[in-house]
Amino acid sequence: MKISFVNFRHFKKYLSMIAIIFIVAIFFLLYSCTNKLNNSSNLNNISDTSKDTSSQEDYFNDRLIVGYEDENKIPDILSLLDGEIILHIPELNAVSVKIKQNVENVINNLSKMGNISKYGIRYVELSHKRYLEPAYKSKEPEVSLSKELITVSYFEYANYTGESLDFYQWGHRVVGIKSAWAENLFGDNIVVAVLDTGVDGTNPDLQGQITEGYRPLYDFIVPPNSDSSYGGAHGTHVAGIIAAKLDGKGVVGVAPKAKIMPIVIFENGGWYIGDDYTAKGIIWAVNHGAKVLSNSWGGAGYSQILKDAFDYALEKGVTVVVAAGNSTSSQMFLYPANYPGIIQVGAAEFNGGNVKTAYFSNGSPMITIAAPGRNILSTMPQIGSKGYDSDSFVCSENGGYYGFMSGTSMATPYVSGIVALLLQKYPNAKPWQIRKIIQSSALDIDEPGIDERSGYGVVQAEVVNGRLPAIGGTDFIVHTTDYFGSWDIQSVFVSLVGTSTDNRQVRYFAKTNKDGLAKFISIDRGVYNIFVGGPDSFESSKGLITQCLRKEEERQYDFKNYNLSDLNTLDVKLSSSAIITLESKLANMKLVFQNMLKPSTDTTAYTYVDFSSTSSYDFSKLSGKYYIKAEINQPVMSDITLSGTIIINGSKIPIFGAITKGSTSTILRDRIGDYWTVFGGE
Ligand code: CA
Repeated sequence: MKISFVNFRHFKKYLSMIAIIFIVAIFFLLYSCTNKLNNSSNLNNISDTSKDTSSQEDYFNDRLIVGYEDENKIPDILSLLDGEIILHIPELNAVSVKIKQNVENVINNLSKMGNISKYGIRYVELSHKRYLEPAYKSKEPEVSLSKELITVSYFEYANYTGESLDFYQWGHRVVGIKSAWAENLFGDNIVVAVLDTGVDGTNPDLQGQITEGYRPLYDFIVPPNSDSSYGGAHGTHVAGIIAAKLDGKGVVGVAPKAKIMPIVIFENGGWYIGDDYTAKGIIWAVNHGAKVLSNSWGGAGYSQILKDAFDYALEKGVTVVVAAGNSTSSQMFLYPANYPGIIQVGAAEFNGGNVKTAYFSNGSPMITIAAPGRNILSTMPQIGSKGYDSDSFVCSENGGYYGFMSGTSMATPYVSGIVALLLQKYPNAKPWQIRKIIQSSALDIDEPGIDERSGYGVVQAEVVNGRLPAIGGTDFIVHTTDYFGSWDIQSVFVSLVGTSTDNRQVRYFAKTNKDGLAKFISIDRGVYNIFVGGPDSFESSKGLITQCLRKEEERQYDFKNYNLSDLNTLDVKLSSSAIITLESKLANMKLVFQNMLKPSTDTTAYTYVDFSSTSSYDFSKLSGKYYIKAEINQPVMSDITLSGTIIINGSKIPIFGAITKGSTSTILRDRIGDYWTVFGGE
């Protein structure tokens, strides 16, 4: 769909004026670009350092997130980690543990302990730091929005929404919000959770719009219509874009009869509460009736607990909307923006005649859609509230506070609000149906067709007149095991790269969890190349327990041209080849292969190979994480050094060991570690 916003009747007459305004606007844009970029990174730094002294790290260094197998084992886990439980999320079988030692050391030590599931642990990971996404905030618009500009290049100026500050709500005109309101769709009682800094429900334009909310950090229920703007003004601004009242005063949200559920994930000072508490907030929101999760935040670092929490939402039919970010770059590894199954939103701007993607808005192959995100006027916290911000002004009609912000943070609630309108009409729509219908009605901007900055284009409220797609989405699960299907393999990277049924180049990424499952919930159907690689030998440096130590032990599998409409689960069996060779033979020597994945009392954990007459052994049929011990009958009189190689998956690795005087055995290792991960084979 393509609409021209230029009114040609006036176009010629004002052509020269447009040119002048355009040049001036470009000047200001370039000027503000440099400033705003600097400002936004400063802002991030300030919120980062305000509370946490370890500001150099991109994670919290006093706690670890632990997924458990069995709730009864939590006490064992706590003693193993030398920590205390600070948070429990039974829905995700996870706890957050405050620890005394350096978190990376603890993870590395756990990785060396072999089968951690004997301690009841599914995974251990870091709690990452993430940030709000504001690019600009002021009581003035960033680029002057003159009445002439709107009149000439858009359409006849008229009070479009009937609100007293209507003039500045250019975004409502661009999305054509009244075409949804004309259908009597206002988002009636659809609950939209705003995961943000909290919301000042005392702003007169938000009074009555705010339902019960939650502060996961304190396990505190936020009463309806109260002030929860603990982390600043950001969440109040986001809330107003979704659901400010249609009452002739101030501004109006795109879904003025929707209800906002504040989930406070940026607390006092604006700092992020961590992936652990945020996951708890997501679960709370879903369990308390949220139908949309609006996420104007993000950061680096794949988090299993956040992935599990968003999957929990998607599996319960909750639509997840996430900001693409404002770092003026192309990104594929910001989260939650790049989890599968979500709606990822870029920011569009309007500064004279055209709507285009804003300069700061991140690109990504998985941008779903753009929405107005520059010079957005919305509600701000009232004076005296927790989140009061001096970058706001008072509206004389209602005494409410308002301000301008720019960012994908502002674009995201535009989409969340329109999702609420759709859910009023189609209450049982699946997340992928919502995503697809929104895509199908977008206003094409930037490069013709789908592009990596605006996705399908700018969201349009007219979408409510569209038909909910019956096909085009699916859930897809990749299950990774060893060659014999005897153990599930965690932290395998799974990428789906291909073309969706609506002809978009698509890329999804997920890691396998402890059950060996990489879940892709509510994604697009299509024909994909599926790349399965791992388990990741570098995992321990980024969180999650490592399954293998060496790059050479990782396995790679490609599945070309898989049609996901026919396939909901793909079983991938990893296999290995492995040969050990020792340079010197000792009388009566044998090698003992001990599988750490089995209890040491289990006799099947051991494989014995006579090495007195042979010097090499192919152990490709073994599957597990193995110590290899060289053992002789009699204690040796002086130190004996052993050396040789292990050829694993075709790569030759030098190994060594030393049976010291008076002892009978040694573990054979290389310079990286003392155990070997193999997945079995012929
Ligand atoms: Ca209003």
